[in-house]
Amino acid sequence: GYQRVLEENRKLYNQVQDLKGNIRVYCRVRPFKPGQSNTLSSVDHMDEKTITILTHSKNGKEARKAFTFNKVFGPSVTQAEVFFDMQPLVRSVLDGYNVCIFAYGQTGSGKTHTMTGPKELTEEGLGVNYRALSDLFHISNQRKETISYDISVQMLEIYNEQVRDLLSADEIRNSSHNGINVPDANLVPVSLTSDVINLMNIGHKNRSVCSTALNDRSSRSHSCLTVHVQGRDLTSGNILRGSMHLVDLAGSERVDKSEVVGNRLKEAQHINKSLSALGDVISSLASRSSHVPYRNSKLTQLLQDSLGGQAKTLMFVHITPEYEALGETISTLKFAERVATVELGAAKVNKDSGEVKELKEQVSSGLLQHMCLY
Ligand code: ADP
Ligand code: MG
Repeated sequence: GYQRVLEENRKLYNQVQDLKGNIRVYCRVRPFKPGQSNTLSSVDHMDEKTITILTHSKNGKEARKAFTFNKVFGPSVTQAEVFFDMQPLVRSVLDGYNVCIFAYGQTGSGKTHTMTGPKELTEEGLGVNYRALSDLFHISNQRKETISYDISVQMLEIYNEQVRDLLSADEIRNSSHNGINVPDANLVPVSLTSDVINLMNIGHKNRSVCSTALNDRSSRSHSCLTVHVQGRDLTSGNILRGSMHLVDLAGSERVDKSEVVGNRLKEAQHINKSLSALGDVISSLASRSSHVPYRNSKLTQLLQDSLGGQAKTLMFVHITPEYEALGETISTLKFAERVATVELGAAKVNKDSGEVKELKEQVSSGLLQHMCLY
């Protein structure tokens, strides 16, 4: 049955994946806002993998700095095109892989646009969260003769290092499973895209209860939609499990410590701590370091089982094109560079290697063709 095929080929698949690396970094540049078309841009040039930023040195001289990613999406790239690139990653969840997708960037850079979509949701505007789930429904339906899949979701928020269940509006505790911390949150079975839309609406309502007009909490907390998949091979009865975390991170902008006090300062410190902890974890995974510092934040603790090993990570950094925001843009790109350099370096070396090519040929000609290499 499928399970046996999967086990036989997983090794081969993992070999290819090992050579290619399990961490991807994408960059998306949002368009100027309407009426901003004459605004000076900090983006000098973009191609499929690099973005060049225009800066000025102290004496007013122009300077350029290039950053390299696995993929760069310019301002006119559609939601569908963005999702198309992530599809293999999403589908691997059905083969039992754990996946984390992060949206990183300053407030207003398009994180929520990528993950959820614009406020007035249209079919075309649907973000990664909806597209990922509807794709999982679609593929699980295609495989229904051989595997029976159960798909369920959780929605969590991390605010000031506390985890909250967005599907029940309660403060939640972590319970322990075999020594691993798992949030004791509502897990809701879903089988239609409309189920997901309804749940996301409930989650957004619960989240906004804690915001005021002056105090938009959504930009200062991390929200995480987790998809759990369980597949049962109808012939052997064997079970496989995969999970996917879709994380809309808190805004990465640095706040001026001299200007904020009290709660605002505490929030800023928590955000700073958790985003740098995430950066540390991903960069030590990328450099294959023996110690991975998961314990330094709630976010990395929560996602520990889905970061590292055979798990796959996509860091999706967002930048704004306005020259005014240059400082934040550079700091976002530096964060991305820090988590990516090693992997991108390795990928470059292996790009044309015969070994990868050969393995890929075996994969695409053989039984593994339903598995999603990315
Ligand atoms: P963030 O979640 O990072 O704070 P948002 O996703 O809310 O940012 O985006 C800020 C604004 O820019 C929103 O009005 C959003 O609809 C718009 N926007 C962001 N990215 C894009 C894009 N790629 N195309 C069109 N509009 C975008
Ligand atoms: Mg947002």
